[in-house]
Amino acid sequence: MRIAVIDRERCKVRICGLQCKKCCPMVKTGKETVIVDEDSGKPIIVEDMCSGCGICVKKCPFDAIQIINIVEEVGEPIHQYGVNGFRLYNLPTPKEGVVGIVGANGIGKTTMMKILSGELKPNLGREGADWGEVVDRFRGKEIQNYLEKLSRKDLKAVYKPQHVDKIPVHVKGDVRGILERSDTSGRMMDIVEKLDLSNAFEADMKELSGGELQRVALAACLARDADVYLIDEPSSYLDVRERINMAKVIREIAEKTKKYVFVIEHDLIVLDYLSDYVHVIYGAPGAYGVISNIKGTRVGINEYLSGYLKSENVRFREEIRFDVRPPKEKKEIKEKIDYPELKKHYERFKLDVDCGMIEGPEMLGILGKNAIGKTTFVKMLAGVIEPDNTKLDLNLKVSYKPQYIEAQDALVVSLHPDPELVERFRIRHLMDRNMNDLSGGELQKVAIVDCLSKDADLYLLDEPSAYLDVEERLKMSKHLKKYIEDHRKSILVVDHDIMLIDYLSDQLMIFSGEGGKSGHATKPMDLRSGMNRFLKDMNTTFRRDAETKRPRINKPDSVKDREQRSSGEYYYVE
Ligand code: ADP
Ligand code: ADP
Ligand code: MG
Repeated sequence: MRIAVIDRERCKVRICGLQCKKCCPMVKTGKETVIVDEDSGKPIIVEDMCSGCGICVKKCPFDAIQIINIVEEVGEPIHQYGVNGFRLYNLPTPKEGVVGIVGANGIGKTTMMKILSGELKPNLGREGADWGEVVDRFRGKEIQNYLEKLSRKDLKAVYKPQHVDKIPVHVKGDVRGILERSDTSGRMMDIVEKLDLSNAFEADMKELSGGELQRVALAACLARDADVYLIDEPSSYLDVRERINMAKVIREIAEKTKKYVFVIEHDLIVLDYLSDYVHVIYGAPGAYGVISNIKGTRVGINEYLSGYLKSENVRFREEIRFDVRPPKEKKEIKEKIDYPELKKHYERFKLDVDCGMIEGPEMLGILGKNAIGKTTFVKMLAGVIEPDNTKLDLNLKVSYKPQYIEAQDALVVSLHPDPELVERFRIRHLMDRNMNDLSGGELQKVAIVDCLSKDADLYLLDEPSAYLDVEERLKMSKHLKKYIEDHRKSILVVDHDIMLIDYLSDQLMIFSGEGGKSGHATKPMDLRSGMNRFLKDMNTTFRRDAETKRPRINKPDSVKDREQRSSGEYYYVE
């Protein structure tokens, strides 16, 4: 089965003069495969006449066209955004407990949420489909009943949107008032306490940091009495402790209320801990997405990492492996980078960094909560700010990707990125775009490539996983590892995605203290010591998945959790 997808936003007929229509070789055979929509003047590709030669795809100067072969088994779409628009296949299974959803950006997750919430009536890929037909499609499946209720408006759904940064535009006023109005269940104060929001309670919405906004949005959603909770990317802007607390609160409410809870999540450790079941969404971003069968959490995430869905018999990418490395062997140290004790005082914040050494080439991971001085430390290494106690001269070239990336008013290509990295990070199609027009994830990838393209002895990446979807995070981890092997240079990574830090780091630095007041950074230590220290601070123990070796959070007070706590092995290696 062949589908043709045109991104209507990207398609700019007036500039290209309908290259796709002019170049279509089917015209010679007398078939009009590309016709022009009278209203918009934009092309329409007639799918059952398209031979799939791919010439229009190559000729389109704006990368607006995708021609894709998909297997017949996926059936008819459950929803399609117009002719040649994005298609979603299948729907998830509502179950008591938390159903986790994992998949790349642009693969249809939000579309799925909108359908589940009743905001979007599925059209079955054609005009005029009614609710009866939609329900019929799922006859005998667990979602049938759900859809029937939804069609009768007999199901109350609440939604925590993905982009919390946009909330203060519509929702104005103080946090207390907003949360009190949401509190139709009576559990708001309990949630506020568990999400550690008491300090923000008296603040105004427009004063909140990203992490506070995220937690307020979550609290407002979970405090409502509803039948379905739809939670879109709750861990953005949150640090590790906040992510774990968030996961605990969601689990607790799912268990207590026995309502349906769906959560979209890109942090695989959090997804694993949160979910009772998992649906994988695979396909081609921007073109189509297929919701997989429902899977147990462990199996679902393992299949996701393996890139192969067993019961569907579908391979959607190559495997990503997590090897547990043996305790670091004495490797060749090529470039020792020594730095002295560093101090930095601001009016309300004070940071102390123990002196330390980076045993290059290596990956140094940095973990710590929000507002504790990680960025301040990285900026001192980068020479952006000066420490108070000493003049820091590392005598080496440093390349730095800041946490907050400022887009320049220039084309991406003007950065002269390394061609190999451009291929690896798949940003070639962005080369002719202005940096101001890029999405958060696109800009992040461009900034990472730009940083690594420079000739330096030390690379500093401050929160590279922000705005990246799960696929992009996994691929980035692979690329960074390869980069160190190939270039024999050191990379320092600050991040809140522990799976990424666990997978990448040779050594770890742990920041502790009180957010916004004071911070202390240890010297770099081996992964096991660092993780033990960090996880003890988080009051959480980890085990390893037998199959993939990926780290998993132990259930609090489970046998493993208690055993590991008493032996002090918070970070289980073998
Ligand atoms: P995700 O949440 O996984 O990032 P979305 O469900 O938001 O994905 O979007 C999937 C695809 O559908 C994207 O290519 C997006 O551009 C397209 N899309 C989303 N909403 C609309 C709409 N209202 N009209 C046309 N296309 C849309
Ligand atoms: P992290 O990266 O761990 O989230 P930062 O290093 O960005 O933390 O910030 C640590 C603390 O220092 C925060 O409370 C922040 O508000 C404060 N801070 C950072 N830069 C400045 C500055 N230039 N002036 C005053 N305070 C600052
Ligand atoms: Mg920071």
